[in-house]
Amino acid sequence: MLLSSRVKGLSYSITMKLNEKALDMTGEGKVIYNLSGGQLPIKPLPEFIEKIHHQLNFVKSYQYSPAAGFPTLRKKLTKYIAESRNLPLDIFENDFDCVISNGSKQSIYNALGALVDPGDEVILLAPYWVSYPEIIKFWGGTPQVIKSNVFDAFVPAVEDIKKCMSPRTKAIIVNSPNNPAGVHYSDAWMKDFTAFLHEYPDLVVISDEVYSEIYYFDPRPSYFYQLDHSLLNRTIIINAISKTLASTGLRLGYAVGPVPLINAMGKIQGQSTSGPNSLVQRALIDFDMKMIETFLAPVKTHVRQNAETLREKFREANLGHCWYQSTSAFYFMIDFSRTPMFARFEADKDHSHVIAEELLASEGITVVPGSDFGLPNSARIALVIEEVPFLEAISKIVKYLNRT
Ligand code: PLP
Repeated sequence: MLLSSRVKGLSYSITMKLNEKALDMTGEGKVIYNLSGGQLPIKPLPEFIEKIHHQLNFVKSYQYSPAAGFPTLRKKLTKYIAESRNLPLDIFENDFDCVISNGSKQSIYNALGALVDPGDEVILLAPYWVSYPEIIKFWGGTPQVIKSNVFDAFVPAVEDIKKCMSPRTKAIIVNSPNNPAGVHYSDAWMKDFTAFLHEYPDLVVISDEVYSEIYYFDPRPSYFYQLDHSLLNRTIIINAISKTLASTGLRLGYAVGPVPLINAMGKIQGQSTSGPNSLVQRALIDFDMKMIETFLAPVKTHVRQNAETLREKFREANLGHCWYQSTSAFYFMIDFSRTPMFARFEADKDHSHVIAEELLASEGITVVPGSDFGLPNSARIALVIEEVPFLEAISKIVKYLNRT
């Protein structure tokens, strides 16, 4: 079969393979601690489920929506973005719009499709969400990666971004709060980033904010465009109900940005999947978005508690150098490279996949290898499972890290 070079360049996810292995092991009666999840293991708010129930009664819920989503919902989501980020509503009234997609992954795919020509470069801040480089490459672009490390809590320096700029640089993706690091960039970082953007007036920013409501350390996530509203003219804000409403399977995400860009994204969507899920859109039209905060309050307390367990366990086991204060989303990156177990491995090479396989085989723990996020010799764990199994899993990880 002669497959296109475009598809041949795409990577398969190792996570799938590890999850299949974990399922086999569960089938054999082994206890598995699943720390590889990228979603909240709970149902959404009853009030939201009730809205979906209600909409089941209408013919329109089963029919096509406009390609870019129902206009009423597009307006509502644009307003939600403006209000939740303290932006003056009049800015958004005429010059900004929203396109609703089948999950925010499709919004990101549309955004990059609307921006990237073959040979263009897109800057990524590592660690980054696994799909960014693959989507950039799919559209013919080249990812340019800025590194970070555990000592900086995985926040890359704005100064380093400058070193990566070239005449082919088209866009930068900023993901705060960040998957996989579980941190959001500080107000000071956003200030520096604003100054940086002033130096590069043609650079477009894709601001992936799907975890914006999930933070458990103050101050809350802030954004560069709050410091200078004119930057909104070259910013696409990505959001979704996947993480904040525990609804990854409902596939509902959206992008808010300047009209010409949003129109271009809608065009791509119209010729690919058409409009997103009508039922869920109609349920959202009636849903009070302020309830998200109430829904997330206990979730945030729980994630924070697990983050504290992690700190205590690392401290007890003299692994303090692996710890940093996670603040948001629901992930933590474990850096193996300075732990006793790493003595068995050749430095300067990446062993994340082998380590993830070992953790599963010997400890029954699934993690996501860090190389998928552009961070060698590390792994992402999720802080969402219940406290007792989380404590058991972390105790096992700590023992593994100190084993030579
Ligand atoms: N952006 C980030 C940073 C993510 O972590 C994810 C999912 O894990 C997505 C976007 C895509 O989410 P969805 O397509 O479910 O809205």
